[in-house]
Amino acid sequence: MAFSYDALIVGSGPAGCAAAFDLARNGKRVLLLDKRLFPRPKACACGLTRKTLAALRYSVDPVVERVCDEIVLQRATSGTVADKSQEIRVKAKTPIAAMAVREKFDAYCLEQTLKAGAKGGSAEWMKIDNILTLDEQPDHVALTVATNDGPQTFTAPVLIGADGSNGQTRRLSTQSKLLTGEEPQWYMRGFALEAMVPYTSLPVPLPEGDGPQDLVFDFAPLADGYGWLFPKGDHINIGVGAFAPDNDPINAKLKTVTRALLAEYTRTKLGVELPAEVTGQYLGMGGHRYAPRGRVLLVGDAAGLVDPLTGEGIHSALVSGQAAAAAILGAPYAMAEGYAHHLRPLQEVLAFSDRASRSFYREPARGFKVMRWPLLRNLVLKTYADGVGKTKLLATLARWAS
Ligand SMILES: Cc1cc2nc3c(=O)[nH]c(=O)nc-3n(C[C@H](O)[C@H](O)[C@H](O)COP(=O)(O)OP(=O)(O)OC[C@H]3O[C@@H](n4cnc5c(N)ncnc54)[C@H](O)[C@@H]3O)c2cc1C
Repeated sequence: MAFSYDALIVGSGPAGCAAAFDLARNGKRVLLLDKRLFPRPKACACGLTRKTLAALRYSVDPVVERVCDEIVLQRATSGTVADKSQEIRVKAKTPIAAMAVREKFDAYCLEQTLKAGAKGGSAEWMKIDNILTLDEQPDHVALTVATNDGPQTFTAPVLIGADGSNGQTRRLSTQSKLLTGEEPQWYMRGFALEAMVPYTSLPVPLPEGDGPQDLVFDFAPLADGYGWLFPKGDHINIGVGAFAPDNDPINAKLKTVTRALLAEYTRTKLGVELPAEVTGQYLGMGGHRYAPRGRVLLVGDAAGLVDPLTGEGIHSALVSGQAAAAAILGAPYAMAEGYAHHLRPLQEVLAFSDRASRSFYREPARGFKVMRWPLLRNLVLKTYADGVGKTKLLATLARWAS
C-alpha cells in the first residue's frame, strides 16, 4: 500500500514536535496537524527544568526570559509574607529551571521542527478543524480530518496521538474502545488555572523569598496541589492547580481549583486583583500504567504522562515523543512494543511520583515536614531538576528507610 506519509502526528505541542523532529531528521516524511494556528496561547507556567532543557534537541535560549536558581517551598502565607517557619529554601549552584512563555516557546519549537528535515525526511504542518475518523487497521492507520477545504484523508503505517489532555486520539484509538468506549481506565486528570500579573502592576516589589529569581511552590491555598509564582521577563505567572491523581468520576478535587481561589491567592500573595484573563487546562495523568498497543502511539499529556507530584509535563512530552520516534525508526521490536520499551524508564519515574504524590497530598502537613529531611528533599528536588533513574531512586529510599 502506498502511504501518504511515514507518520501522522496529531498535535504540535512539545510532544508532537519532539516526535516529528527526530523522525524528519532521520529520513521520515511526517505530517504534523493541529487545530490551532501557531503562535497560539496555551495554559502553562512553562518552567523548563534542567532535564527538560537537556531533552530538547536544540537550544531554546532565544525564548528564555529568565533563569531561576532557587526553589522556595511554602506552606503558610499571611498577607504577602510567607511564614518563614513554614518555608524550605533550596538554592542551587546552577539554574534549576529556565522560564519561557508557552505561546513563544511552542511557536519556536514548531519552527525548529519544520526545518529539521534531513536524509530525505521532512515535517509538514497543517491546520485542521478536528478529526472525523481514525481507522486503525492491522497494517496502517487512515485518518480523516475536517479542514477549511473539506474532509481530507491521510494514511500512514503509524499515528502519534500528541493532542494533549483533551485530545481526540486517545478516545478514538483501539486502546480506549476495547476498554470503556470513552477514556481508557488508566487515564486521570489534574487541573490548573493561571494568570499573568505584570511586574509594573505590583503595589510593592515582590516580597523577599518570592523574588524574580525564585520558583515558589506554595502548599497553602489548596489541599491536593499547590499555588505557584513563576517569574517571567515582564510579568509573574501565578497559578493554582490540583495535581494529586484521582479516579474520582465527579472530580471533586479538581472542582476546588476555581477562579475565586486564584483571585483570593493573587490578592493574598501579590496584593493585586486577578487580571481579567485567566486560562486553565486539564493535565493528563495516570500514564505510568499506559500500555501502548496497535498503530496509535500516545505521547505527552494524551498518554497521561504529567508528573503527578509536581504537575510538570513538558519533559515527559519531549521524552515520550522521542521514544515514539525511536520505536518508529526501527528498533528491533514491533512498533507498540518498541515504544513500550523506550517509554519504560519514564513510566518508572512517574510511577514513583504517583506513589509519592498520594502520600504527600494525603497529609500535606506531614509531607511538608518530611521535606525538611535533607536526603529526601534533595532527592525530590534533584528529580524535579534533573530527573533520576529508578535504580537511584530506590537506592536512596532504601538508605533513607534504613
Ligand atoms: C496551568 C498549567 C501550568 C503548567 N505549567 C507547567 C510548567 O511550568 N512546566 C511543565 O513542564 N509543565 C507544565 N504544565 C503541563 C504542560 O503544559 C503539559 O504537560 C504539556 O503542554 C504537554 O505537552 P503535549 O505536547 O503533550 O500537549 P499540549 O501542549 O497540550 O499540545 C497539544 C496540541 O494538540 C492540539 N490539539 C488538541 N486537540 C486536537 C485535535 N483534535 N486535533 C488537532 N490538534 C489538537 C492543541 O491545539 C495543542 O497544540 C502546565 C499545565 C497547566 C494546565
